[in-house]
Amino acid sequence: MSAPRIVVADPDPAVRRALAALLAEHGCEVLPAADTAAALAALEQRDPQLLLLAAQFPDGDGYQFLERTLAAERFRDLPVIVLADAPAEEGGVRALGLGAADYLRTPARPRELVARVQARLRGGALLRGAREAQLRAQAELAHVRHDAESRRTLVDILHEVTGDLSVPELFALLVRRAARALGVSHCAVILAPPGHHEGEVVAAVEDPALQREPVALDRFPEVRAALESGLPVLVPDLGTHPLYPAGRAVRGLDGHPAPLRSAIALPFSVDRGRHGVFLLRRTTGQPPFTEPDLEFAEAAITAAVAVIQRAQVVENARADNARLERLAQTDPLTQLLNRRAFTERLQQEMERALRYDASLALLLVDLDHFKAVNDTHGHLVGDDALRDLARLLLETVRTADVVARYGGEEFLVLLPETDDAGAEGFAERIRQAVEAHPFDSGGATLRLTASLGVALFPAPRVHTAEDLFVRADAALYRAKADGRNRVCT
Ligand code: GH3
Ligand code: MG
Ligand code: MG
Repeated sequence: MSAPRIVVADPDPAVRRALAALLAEHGCEVLPAADTAAALAALEQRDPQLLLLAAQFPDGDGYQFLERTLAAERFRDLPVIVLADAPAEEGGVRALGLGAADYLRTPARPRELVARVQARLRGGALLRGAREAQLRAQAELAHVRHDAESRRTLVDILHEVTGDLSVPELFALLVRRAARALGVSHCAVILAPPGHHEGEVVAAVEDPALQREPVALDRFPEVRAALESGLPVLVPDLGTHPLYPAGRAVRGLDGHPAPLRSAIALPFSVDRGRHGVFLLRRTTGQPPFTEPDLEFAEAAITAAVAVIQRAQVVENARADNARLERLAQTDPLTQLLNRRAFTERLQQEMERALRYDASLALLLVDLDHFKAVNDTHGHLVGDDALRDLARLLLETVRTADVVARYGGEEFLVLLPETDDAGAEGFAERIRQAVEAHPFDSGGATLRLTASLGVALFPAPRVHTAEDLFVRADAALYRAKADGRNRVCT
């Protein structure tokens, strides 16, 4: 440890000399001051550990100097020992009251003076240590706060993207939020497969019009370096960095030279196919990027990639669900709606018709003597005929109508907004179409007929989907009983 520096401020040259000699003997460096102005200069310039201060000077009062000096923030912890030719009860009380660490009556006994000086130096050292620890703790706290703030910003980003954002929308959000959090004017996401010389701007805060624009990567050495190494690139000063040798222009994404000074390029990959770079740049007027900026930017892009990946998982699951849902609603032989799905639609349409006072018709279609087709031509031919009938029904109906396979050789057709005449006419058209259709029996043409039962809403005692269904079934039964190949209502 270097020798403790002590300012000895006393107007008497003999006192200054004596104290200097005594303290130097005990390993201290003495800075003598003949008046308060010199004392202040020594305090300002030499950062001493202790001040020995006379009570009286020709140019002023030592107590006033003491009071003024200790009031200054930078001298708050300076130990001061006041030397005065007054009884301790007076001078001591006054000195300590003004903030002095100690008081000695002159002439002081050398050994007592040295002992008190050493005690104050030790106390001062402890205080300094404590103060430094406090400053370190404050700096630490500020750092933690800064980190917490950064993380909070990230959490905000994540919150914002819980909705259904597309990938470009998400990147646009990312560049906006990251630019705001880091105070950068240039922030972009560029997608570029490894080894490619051209990338595509997905989002750029400096110019949203650049979205989807191709960029030549050799104009952006930090981007290439990040893509090639797969590692983050931090360039505090582009003007002195080897990536930008003297004379090489720094360019904006639009290709024009731009007053950019500092850059961060972070490579990322969303999945095996999609690689890119998150590029942040500051202009010459802005502070250069630092490691914590890099860490924040990394956290931001990592979070964004995680969101994209999560969205993809959700999207895949949704697609799977949609496929399963479709599967659960489809009749495997004809690809028409199955009975369950049709029943739901019928329920909905019935509610709608009730609410809006609209009309609705339900047709039950049953092939005549179909058992005989199977018996004569086999089940495969029967299956083909059922598929054929499904196609025929789909071709005959309007887009708003719903066709389903009820089961076996029975089909359903739901006709919204259709009155009695319309429904019967429609049923008759179907009957004729079946009768006229040449079904394939694996060579020879197969002729088939169908019977149809028609139910209508509104009608007396028809209040529910079940009522409608029962009516259609009863009508079909009558059509069969009346000799088949006919429509009954
Ligand atoms: P009806 O004129 O009284 O309706 O006589 P039908 O023979 O058509 O009626 P029934 O209900 O007695 O027989 C229906 C036949 O439909 C029985 C079965 O062989 C046949 N069938 C039901 N589902 C299928 C299927 O998925 N494929 C094939 N090939 N035949 C089916
Ligand atoms: Mg039947
Ligand atoms: Mg039948």
